Order: sequence, then C-alpha cells, then structure tokens
Amino acid sequence: MIPVNRPLLDGNEKRYLAECVDTGWISSEGPFVRRLESGFAAFIGRKHGVAVCNGSAALDLAVAALRIGPGDEVILPSLTIISCAAAIVRAGAKPVVVDCEARTWNMDPSLIASKITPRTKAIMVVHIFGLPVDMDPVLALAKQHGLWIIEDAAEQIGQTYKSRSVGTFGDAATFSFYPNKHITTGEGGMVMMDDGHLASRCRDLRNLCFGNERRFIHEELGWNFRMSNVQAALGVAQLERVGGFLERKRQLGGWYNALLAGHPMLELPVDNAGYARNIYWVYGVVLKESVKFDAREAIARLRSRGVDSRHFFWPLHEQPVLRRMGLFDGEHCPHAERVARRGLYLPSGLGTTQDEVGESAEALKAILV
Ligand SMILES: *Cc1c(COP(=O)(O)O)cnc(C)c1O
Repeated sequence: MIPVNRPLLDGNEKRYLAECVDTGWISSEGPFVRRLESGFAAFIGRKHGVAVCNGSAALDLAVAALRIGPGDEVILPSLTIISCAAAIVRAGAKPVVVDCEARTWNMDPSLIASKITPRTKAIMVVHIFGLPVDMDPVLALAKQHGLWIIEDAAEQIGQTYKSRSVGTFGDAATFSFYPNKHITTGEGGMVMMDDGHLASRCRDLRNLCFGNERRFIHEELGWNFRMSNVQAALGVAQLERVGGFLERKRQLGGWYNALLAGHPMLELPVDNAGYARNIYWVYGVVLKESVKFDAREAIARLRSRGVDSRHFFWPLHEQPVLRRMGLFDGEHCPHAERVARRGLYLPSGLGTTQDEVGESAEALKAILV
C-alpha cells in the first residue's frame, strides 16, 4: 500500500534526540524548545513563538489569549478541521461560517462582510491545502470593523501571499507540526505573534497560569499545553531543511499535475493563484459531475489498487456535534458541500517517491474509466 504520507527524518533528527537522552533534558524545560521557538519565529518573520503540544491546542490558546468568550462571534470557513470550531465553542463564543471558493477551496472573502454583526470579534482565517486565503480583502474588513485576525497556517509553513510570509497576517497565527505538515515534531504546534503582552499571556495559559508571586496560587485557568524538549529536538532538525522540503512539495505537485493534466473528469488544484504559487501541502483533486460516484467510493477503489488516499474536511455546518448545539440552522455552503463529497487527496508526503506519484496517478485514472 502506498501511504498517503511518509515523513522525512534523515537529517539531524537522531543526533538531537540522542542529545536529549544523553543530557537528561526531556521535559519542556530543555533548550531545544527555546531554539525551535526563536528559529521558527525568525523563519516565519514574527517576534514571538510559543511552542505547544499540537496545532489544535495552539488554536485554543490563540482564542483564549485574545479574550474571546461568551457573547462573541468568530467568522471562519466551513471547510476546515474541527479544531477551529472547537476552540471557539470551548471559549463560549459562537462560530459563524462562510463558504469556500470553488477553485482554491479557501474561504471566500466576498462572503465575510454580510456575516459581520456587532458581536463579531474576530475572523479566523484558515489557509487550506496549498494556497493561502486571498488576504487583502480580509485585512481591509478587519481594519474597517476593528476585528482580530486569527490565522491558522498549519498547512502552509513557508508559503507566501504577495511575497509576504503566511503566518504574519494574524494578530495571532497558529501552526501544527503533525507528521503530515511541512516540518514535524511528531505532535506539536506553535502560536505566533508580535505583541509581547499577548506572547506572555500565551506562555501563562500554556503553563496552567502558575502564579508569579506564589506559584501555586492561580488567578486564571490555563492548560498544560507544553511542548517537550524531545519534540522540539525533532523540530530543530526539521527546520534546518525546510527550504528543501518546500521545493520537494512543489516538485510532487508538479509531477501530479503533469500526469493528470487535462483529465476530463478531474478538477486539479490551482498551481498559481496570482498572489501565491501552490505549496501542495497535500495533493487534492475533486471529481467532476461526470463521475458517477463520490469520493468515498473513489477512496475505496484506490485502496483496492494499493493506493491510500483521504477525504477533504467535512464542512463545519454539517457536523452533528455542532448542529446539536443549535448552530448553523438553515446554513448552506454549496462549494464546501460539493468538495467535501467529491474531493480526495493522494499520497503526497515528503517521503513519497516519484514512482509512487506515478503509480497513484495511474491508479486514479484507472478507477475513473
Ligand atoms: C493539522 C491542522 C490543525 C491541527 O493540528 P494538530 O497538530 O493535528 O492538532 C489545525 N488546523 C489545520 C488547518 C490543520 O491542517
């Protein structure tokens, strides 16, 4: 079976992990955590990075640190991971969704304005798959209405929008270092910002809000969202090679594009959106209407040919857990609904070989006839 993702861990990963064991620094107190925070902040171009145990926790921290809570609304795309909505709902605030664009699968900025109310506090921008959200109109709306921007950049480490680094647009930006992201720590993530107060608030919230005067007296409830030195050791080794990783991803995307170009039954990712070139976090395709079955059937057929693939996200406004909370009554997002049912992504990890791309593309063509 060709796996949908295989990470590349053949740099200094082993050496740095051995250093953790040899020195005994395995908790979050170890030196690699600070090294990853400052190294990644320099790479993205932000003043502060707060390393956490995963990208979902990073979203919880960002929402809590901006003091978003009961009575507040946050606008976000319907086509995204549940973590985005979970962070908003757990803070006691209300998620308000917009549909995605037909071709980039990113939130459609032209749909945001009509969702803004006096209760709106923030826009949670999520860069999906390989292209960033069209940020200029989002920035203009946020400025006009005095809204925070929370930027989920988990899938777009190293991407740019009009030459500006993705992850520098949000008042708080979040990243994930899960093994299918552009760099990995196994499990891990980061919240980034330029504001020093927001950074120290995130550090407090990450670490149970221990008291400053007396450690065990707490003024607020936080979490233990700390990243360990062992995780950060992997991240430091990965960050050393991030430039090559990005090239590799674009190469993979290029191979798929060449093999699948012009296929009458497939909608391929947009390679160049003008404001950005696709970074191919994963290589997604959407089955056109002429295909008589949906993504679920395509994934099963690919599996029977030895190729592992995955669904796109399922829209937030169709999530049973959120609907049961009384959210999204009567909501429709036709593009998100369509690509959720007809979209799938193919093996496209950093360790995926050119042969595997070839076999996967062939298998896809074969199941469509
Ligand atoms: C991966 C991902 C996350 C969550 O990251 P975890 O580290 O798996 O918790 C959040 N948002 C998006 C868009 C992601 O792709």
